[in-house]
Amino acid sequence: MSPVDGLHRESALGLARLLAEGRTSSEEATRHCLARAERVDRELGAFLALDPEGALAAARASDARRRAGEARGPLDGVPLALKDNLVCAGLATTAGSRILEGWRPPYDATAVARLRAAGAVLLGKLNLDEFAMGSSTESSAYRVCRNPWDLARVPGGSSGGAAAAVAAELCAGALGTDTGGSIRQPASLCGVVGLKPSYGRVSRYGLIAFASSLDQIGPLARTTADCALLLEAIAGHDPRDATSLEAPAGGYLEACARGRAEGPRGLRVGVPREYFVAGIDPEVEAAVRGAIAALAAEGAELVELSLPHTRFAVAAYYLICTAEASSNLARYDGVRYGLRVSPEAAGAGGELEAMSAASRGRGFGPEVKRRIMLGTFALSAGYYDAYYARAQRARTLIRRDFEAAFARCDVIATPTSPIPAFALGEKQGDPLQMYLADIYTISCNLAGLPGISLPCGLSAGGLPIGLQLLAAPLDEPQLLRAAAAYEALSPATGLRPPLASAEGAA
Ligand code: GLN
Repeated sequence: MSPVDGLHRESALGLARLLAEGRTSSEEATRHCLARAERVDRELGAFLALDPEGALAAARASDARRRAGEARGPLDGVPLALKDNLVCAGLATTAGSRILEGWRPPYDATAVARLRAAGAVLLGKLNLDEFAMGSSTESSAYRVCRNPWDLARVPGGSSGGAAAAVAAELCAGALGTDTGGSIRQPASLCGVVGLKPSYGRVSRYGLIAFASSLDQIGPLARTTADCALLLEAIAGHDPRDATSLEAPAGGYLEACARGRAEGPRGLRVGVPREYFVAGIDPEVEAAVRGAIAALAAEGAELVELSLPHTRFAVAAYYLICTAEASSNLARYDGVRYGLRVSPEAAGAGGELEAMSAASRGRGFGPEVKRRIMLGTFALSAGYYDAYYARAQRARTLIRRDFEAAFARCDVIATPTSPIPAFALGEKQGDPLQMYLADIYTISCNLAGLPGISLPCGLSAGGLPIGLQLLAAPLDEPQLLRAAAAYEALSPATGLRPPLASAEGAA
């Protein structure tokens, strides 16, 4: 019997195996994903755009390579999707903003080009908070994105579309971006695995910039090994990104295999006191403490830690990210972008529409405006030392806390989000409440560390809870080894959201 009916349930590595064994084709898998996405996503809102023609052409090319004995590796023919702040030649890229509506970039982001080179099929572009600013995907200018575990709740953000699409089994994996938690927090809220690589590990070329000293591209998938597989494809030096590191990349799948085979025996797991304090949901605390106890029961050594400057993280992050955003977003002035060429005018010589999108009031949404104003203020003469310079000093102290901690442990274990998925609309009117959703994830970006979130339990209400693991810069192998070891023990491994299990085959 053809395995086609269950194709959406397969992990990326599972699909790779079926493809290698000739039990399905990339075209069959791609059609299956597209049909499911067409149907399920009407309600879910994970995609901003599907690209059926491009995806099917890539799938057929992959099948032809395989027939010729020239398959490029495990990702060849596997359907994936991209957060819509990653530029992709010929595909509209919006960053969730009206100001970029209709823009078709002429080039691929390096991470996207590397996925294509590995033979991956790109299904389309995923929903996000405008310019990746937010924790709920509610600031997308285009459509509401829902959580597949409970459609009345948010998927998290800003890579909410990526987490929702992976959880609902509309694609085998996705690329998201993480500036202060935007891969890990939605992964946690949607019950999938999300990996933020070390700063500089993955090229940012072609990522629409939010805060350049914090942004990283990384994978979301249903297993740790799938995240490792995607990271193998996208990691490594790129001369087009001056902040990309030259250090050799790779060994990620091997690290997962080792974690699965050896378990957490001998792993030194740091448990920072500052991450288990008032405000954390008791069910989240119980699930994360349970995960840490499970690691200890299998031979991990627990190391009690203090990261004393954690209390400055939210303030430092929101000063630095808004300052950088105010500078990065200055290019969207309504002159260079947000202008439209009407098809007739374009035919007649490329005249621009007289009014820009911005001047029609279709520019930035309220969160983006708020951040540009905050960042401009923080950088202004007379205030620079009081705000931006002090935030940078706090950032150094936070980084040093981690340096001291990693002298004593291999990974640090914490909750990813203080609460499970919240209701749509619940925090939208209160930016400060929304900013606190990142309290456990932002220090990792400030210090440039790699971090991963993976499912560690469900709340009584049936919502996923995530465990966050952090490692020293460039120590993705140790991080993945620990994550794979925990994944093999986790009570949440293999749980599927009601939306995916209720849905039949396409
Ligand atoms: N939620 C955080 C913010 O709003 C992080 C966003 C991100 O990681 N892109 O800035």
